[in-house]
Amino acid sequence: MTTKTRFAPSPTGYLHVGGARTALFSWLYARKHGGKFILRIEDTDIERSTQESVDAIFDGMNWLGLTHDEGPFYQTQRFDRYKEIIQQLLDQGDAYYCTCSREQLDQLREQQKANKEKPRYNGKCRAAEHSSDVEAVIRFKNPVEGEVVINDLVKGDIVVANKELDDLIIARSDRTPTYNLTVIVDDMDMGITHVIRGDDHINNTPRQINILKALGAELPQYAHVPMILGSDGARLSKRHGAVSVMQYRDDGYLPDALLNYLVRLGWSHGDQEIFSIDEMVELFDLKDVNVSASTFNSEKLLWLNHQYIMNSTPEHVAKHLAWHMKEKGIDLANGPELVGIVKAQRERSKTLVEMANASDYFYQEFETYDEKAAKKNFKQDTDLVLQRLMDKFSQLDTWNGERLHQIVLDTAEIMGLKLGKVAQPLRVAVSGAGVSPAIDITLSLLGREKTLARMARAIEFIKEKNNS
Ligand code: GLU
Repeated sequence: MTTKTRFAPSPTGYLHVGGARTALFSWLYARKHGGKFILRIEDTDIERSTQESVDAIFDGMNWLGLTHDEGPFYQTQRFDRYKEIIQQLLDQGDAYYCTCSREQLDQLREQQKANKEKPRYNGKCRAAEHSSDVEAVIRFKNPVEGEVVINDLVKGDIVVANKELDDLIIARSDRTPTYNLTVIVDDMDMGITHVIRGDDHINNTPRQINILKALGAELPQYAHVPMILGSDGARLSKRHGAVSVMQYRDDGYLPDALLNYLVRLGWSHGDQEIFSIDEMVELFDLKDVNVSASTFNSEKLLWLNHQYIMNSTPEHVAKHLAWHMKEKGIDLANGPELVGIVKAQRERSKTLVEMANASDYFYQEFETYDEKAAKKNFKQDTDLVLQRLMDKFSQLDTWNGERLHQIVLDTAEIMGLKLGKVAQPLRVAVSGAGVSPAIDITLSLLGREKTLARMARAIEFIKEKNNS
């Protein structure tokens, strides 16, 4: 049988890292077994579902490269099918109309609480045989005897006695289906073999199994993945910082670094920290997923991102850097190939945002000099140093890093200055600030025209300062 997994988000917000990790585990499991990964949008909560969220989920999945093989399916387009199944359950005596009012149910709950019993529906309408034309919800007739066993691939066997479960509402009084019904119909129709999802759904699972059994459906295997906690031990949420996948893109993370971080969050393979996608697919197994919750560690994610920036091919990093440069409104046609920028900046950039911010002067004029750097490096006679460099640079027939470097060395020697007193003012002159890649690399990337123009600008600036 083909392995089929699914990711079934409710589109009520952005794709968050917890959802992305569930999606990743499902995706990896399908890929590992040569199976199929299905994307299903659980949009039956019309009030809270938005197209914006649907798009945000697609964007997140695309950016992470978690491609689906079937779908996206929308539950709102399958209402006829859910109706059909609800009718089938009614016809075969596994569901019934329930007319108990809210007040009656509240009263029942109060009573049960007072008796220190677990609040649950008492099955009052089970035998009433209400007809379809009354105002009623539809409940599933849960078995009263026996137990449900979930052979959970992460948590191990979980046994729940049927007497602990009550008769679940599968359709509201307007006859729209509820979550547990839609999920099982879809899992059944879509041939899902492995339901991998957050362990916040574990209480739903025995109920879902019972409905599937009533329909004579093949049961999928279940794997409930523990939740992700913030550094304070509370469930990961916005107040711990970024939780939206796309926020990580905006903050300068590479998708592969985030995937690598997410795969290690609750799963391990010995001491290995860095996994290519191919390695993840090869090594991932549900049996190695931790049983307990894991803690999100932003520092470690940042470290991983830097590793990926340094060790991925410069072409790959450049592709993602291009997005950030465009976001900043930079026209890449006005400067060097981005691959060169990546090679020059990757050691010093932990994120692509840092890299982009440290590289804009290669493409566009900076407005002003960094105040501190200018004060420290543009001294009274610095214009003379820059002028000599400029004269020599202008005479070069080829704009070559080695030759440029040699001119900087010679100038320092001839003028009796320490190297820093030559290279550093030059750096401020061409980049506007005191930090840049090695000066020969900076000048090579910048090119002859921009370098000379900026040197002329700096000389003017220093002269004006001297005169004021
Ligand atoms: N739509 C549910 C959610 O977003 C997931 C349902 C499932 O995976 O079974 O929490």
